Amino acid sequence: MTYREPARTTTRRIPRIRIAGLLVVIAVTAASLGYQSLASSSSTAASPIDVLRGEHRGLRSEHRGALGEADGAVPDGVTVFDDEYPAVANLDPTLLGALRQAATDAAGDGVEFYVDSGWRSPKYQEQLLDEAISKYGSEEEAARWVATPNTSAHVSGDAVDIGPSDAAAWLSDHGAEYGLCRIYSNEPWHYERRPEAIDHGCPPIYADPTHDPRMHRPATSGAG
Ligand SMILES: [Zn+2]
Repeated sequence: MTYREPARTTTRRIPRIRIAGLLVVIAVTAASLGYQSLASSSSTAASPIDVLRGEHRGLRSEHRGALGEADGAVPDGVTVFDDEYPAVANLDPTLLGALRQAATDAAGDGVEFYVDSGWRSPKYQEQLLDEAISKYGSEEEAARWVATPNTSAHVSGDAVDIGPSDAAAWLSDHGAEYGLCRIYSNEPWHYERRPEAIDHGCPPIYADPTHDPRMHRPATSGAG
């Protein structure tokens, strides 16, 4: 530690031109790293969850134009406190209360929750399902991602998709304390209220919604 002070003095004496050169090197390095990560995310190196999340969000954004906020469409930047949006206001009040408590505590950790999707009208859910069937090519594959209006926890106001990924990760770590649980392995953003989790922890996660018994009501199966 004896060399620490002299080193600092030396740093101050480095001519400006050298610092400018160093900044250029840093900028070029950062740019090439950025390029590399872009390149890898557009290749098969991206994690399956990132790809799947992109698909999920794609469904949402494709529909933003076609459906109004009255059906549960959500513009970017909506928080769990924005109850002027039906997607937020029509959530189950106990789910919304738990989300607001969690969001307040997460903000203390520097993490902000955004609502990617919340309550949805049956019409909105039906359109999402139709779109998923044409996108994935079969009802079976679509069922891994989008539920029917009869089975969707979004339509009943009992599910919310939280972003960005650091917010979902915060909920994964702390959600049980608020009775908020991740339900599906393939949807790390999808949370529902499980009050028993406060004392006992969250129940085991289903691989995807087709494994969820709630999705096997009469008619077709489907997801949240
Ligand atoms: Zn969801």
